[in-house]
Amino acid sequence: MTTSLNVAKFGGTSVANYETMQNCARIIAGNKQTKVVVVSASAGVTNHLVTLANTALTSKQIHDIVDNIRAIEHAIVAKLTHPEEVSEKLETKLEELTRLATNEEINFRDDLKDALLSMGERMSSLLFSAVLREFGVAAVNFDVRKVLRTDSTFTDASPEVATIRQLSQALLVPELSNSVVVTQGFVGADEQGRTTTLGRGGSDFTAALLAEAIDAETCEIWTDVIGVYTTDPRITDKAKPLAELSFEEAAEMATFGAKVLHPATMEPALRKNIKVFVGSSKEPEKGGTWIVRDCEVEPSYRAITRRKDQVMVTVKTPKMMYAQGFLQRVFTIIAKHKLSVDLVTTSEISVSFTLDNPPNTVSEKMNKETLAELTTICDVTVEQGFDVVTVVGNNMHSAAGVSSKIFAAISDFNLRMICFGANPHNLSFVVNNQDSESVVKVLHKALFE
Ligand code: ADP
Ligand code: ASP
Ligand code: MG
Repeated sequence: MTTSLNVAKFGGTSVANYETMQNCARIIAGNKQTKVVVVSASAGVTNHLVTLANTALTSKQIHDIVDNIRAIEHAIVAKLTHPEEVSEKLETKLEELTRLATNEEINFRDDLKDALLSMGERMSSLLFSAVLREFGVAAVNFDVRKVLRTDSTFTDASPEVATIRQLSQALLVPELSNSVVVTQGFVGADEQGRTTTLGRGGSDFTAALLAEAIDAETCEIWTDVIGVYTTDPRITDKAKPLAELSFEEAAEMATFGAKVLHPATMEPALRKNIKVFVGSSKEPEKGGTWIVRDCEVEPSYRAITRRKDQVMVTVKTPKMMYAQGFLQRVFTIIAKHKLSVDLVTTSEISVSFTLDNPPNTVSEKMNKETLAELTTICDVTVEQGFDVVTVVGNNMHSAAGVSSKIFAAISDFNLRMICFGANPHNLSFVVNNQDSESVVKVLHKALFE
């Protein structure tokens, strides 16, 4: 067995169909160190599953959606030289999916939702391992739930890193001597063996967690862009791919909205100094971004990100002037509901903070419960319709002129909240959601063009 291991993750568009899977197979076959392959569900499948899990649907609607999923999977099987090797297993999975989707409790029970949401990755990994074998790679499909232990926070589970390591060393590593293991991103299991998921986009996180658990040297994230860009290339065609990025910069970008990496991806990489590569499975020859501990250059401005669907909460109590511990009580409630606060500003009698609130997610539900509880100790105002725009860079709080250049560029916009100084790597503003795209473009022009 090779001493230095690589974990390669392929996102939804990369495993969308048989043809894109061929590009992935070429990448895997071209690097002997790639021993673990993590796949997302084929593009579109998880969105269909989320609709099935979260919406009250008629029986016809359910069956129509299941048929759409079936068509995506069957199109791949149809291109195999030996479809019979997987078609029966796929049918069993489609039956399981249909049973879950038609379960009367599906819209109310998060454990059932996760069992359903996991089906996309469970099918794509089955099919992709078959594609790889036909390509000439000795690939086996491995059920990630044997090793990816999480807590029981269904739909947004947290990994239990020490147990994942133990289980991976015992059950996954032995598989690597003879084969390339293909496994599911996004999916885990709690102590009782119940299926959990890591939150949308969680396959990147899975790849990094497994890389940590098997002591891999590198982790590759293969997607539909040729690396991490100065900003989302969908916002402006002036965005440029970055050759190199530090762990801290990448973590900051992911946390503040760069969808190319799940926000938690850099945690395992940081802990174990695992180099992370981001590149395009369609155009691997174009290279990509290396995310490393120490970069050659650490520029003041590295990138601009946007995080949408933010809710701004202001809690206010006249008691704050003399009641010590008010902040603690507020944040205890937030912590109890497992919500993470991104930005905070405080004044004598009030605190404002932002919460992530993507529609149809658990956090939306938890936000409502959290707010109800906060109302019992203070006045609460909730405002919607905001995005957070963040400039990510280095030594931003200490380098002269860095912040003034940013503020000069966006002086025409109404900034609802500004966070600066607590972290040398970012300067964030809350802006009205109609303005956020223009704010990103104007800033990009001022800082990178
Ligand atoms: P995958 O399905 O492979 O996980 P995602 O859609 O989750 O892919 O992430 C890739 C997308 O991330 C790109 O298509 C791009 O629009 C978006 N993105 C947002 N910010 C950035 C950025 N700074 N650099 C590159 N891509 C970005
Ligand atoms: N399939 C999941 C999603 O679409 C996880 C992932 O692709 O990373 O969110
Ligand atoms: Mg993704």
